[in-house]
Amino acid sequence: MVLNDIVRKVECNFNEILQTASKMIKIPSRNPPGEEKRCAEYIHSKLKELGYETYFVNEPFIDRPQVVALLKGKSSDTILLNGHIDTVPEGDANSWIMDPFSGEIKDGFLYGRGAVDMKSSLSIMMHVAKFVETNGTILLAFAVGEERAEPGTSTLLSWIKKFNLKIKYGLVMEPTGLQVATHQRGAVWLKIRIKGRATHASTPNEGINAIEIAHNIMYIIQEYKKQITKKSHKFTDTPTCSVTMINAGIKENVIPDRCEIVLDRRLVPGETKNEVTKELRLLFDKKKLNCEITQLGSRKPVELSNNSVLPRTILDVMDQMNIQSSTICFTGATDNEHIFSNSIESLVWGPGDLSFAHSVDERISINDMKNAAIALGLVVNKLLE
Ligand SMILES: [Zn+2]
Repeated sequence: MVLNDIVRKVECNFNEILQTASKMIKIPSRNPPGEEKRCAEYIHSKLKELGYETYFVNEPFIDRPQVVALLKGKSSDTILLNGHIDTVPEGDANSWIMDPFSGEIKDGFLYGRGAVDMKSSLSIMMHVAKFVETNGTILLAFAVGEERAEPGTSTLLSWIKKFNLKIKYGLVMEPTGLQVATHQRGAVWLKIRIKGRATHASTPNEGINAIEIAHNIMYIIQEYKKQITKKSHKFTDTPTCSVTMINAGIKENVIPDRCEIVLDRRLVPGETKNEVTKELRLLFDKKKLNCEITQLGSRKPVELSNNSVLPRTILDVMDQMNIQSSTICFTGATDNEHIFSNSIESLVWGPGDLSFAHSVDERISINDMKNAAIALGLVVNKLLE
């Protein structure tokens, strides 16, 4: 199938793609609290209408259905297209130039919470059946809970095993401005708990001030931050370590007996959460700073070779369309972590500017959407011909 055929098909269907995205924006799916259900129901009914074999997956949350859809080809060679239904909340609606759930189109942009992250991509994925002709199988996975790192996509990956498909490629269609994110940093969130001994603040020497110990710990963290930025990786940003929360003290005249510090430590490929926890443990022990470190949560880094078939195919297509694109590292965490760790050749690639995500006046360029639909059609055709 040549470029012109796909361009024509996308042109014919583009209004429907746009309307479907707009309709999804009009159905809020904020997380928290995790209100994806109504939007999932809409996606399910739309997919049925489009001719897919469509399923609700009432796992891992009974009241937050996920959606899976299959377009079976002659071959079980499969591409998995993944996206999340949930969005972050809209924040203060009064600071938006329009209702965050209007799904309105203005000056070449589609507006609203979820416009770029990532209901436009969901709509493009849903309509891909209309502009591909392939022997392979297309599997769509619409996950819940991505915005709070809940086990949406990871549950779907286990659930779809029953189909016995040969999933060769995976695309997570988060906004990358159509850059090809073969790499992704991981993260670990650590809580450092410092114990002191409370006493009256008029006799501080009788107690142990947990905030003063925390002060020394913070000093070590500042030094550690400088050290780890030297640990650069060929294709990703450097590791980072940021203090993101601190909590201590109960009253102005009491020496605090506890202090908690929370760290956000971003990992580059090759680093593990346990290794970095140990690194910090050793630094604190060396200075005899008594504290307890616990891991609150984590995301694994992803590293797909830039020479793999999937990134090369996408870059060829981008080239054919005269769109500037190259391989990049996605700075945040995405569900690709789970797909990649299921031994699927996968990456993150989708339309729109990531800086509009989670922001006031979230929007996506309609032109970006159209290019993404054309490019996705070409990519799927090439990969599964
Ligand atoms: Zn997202």
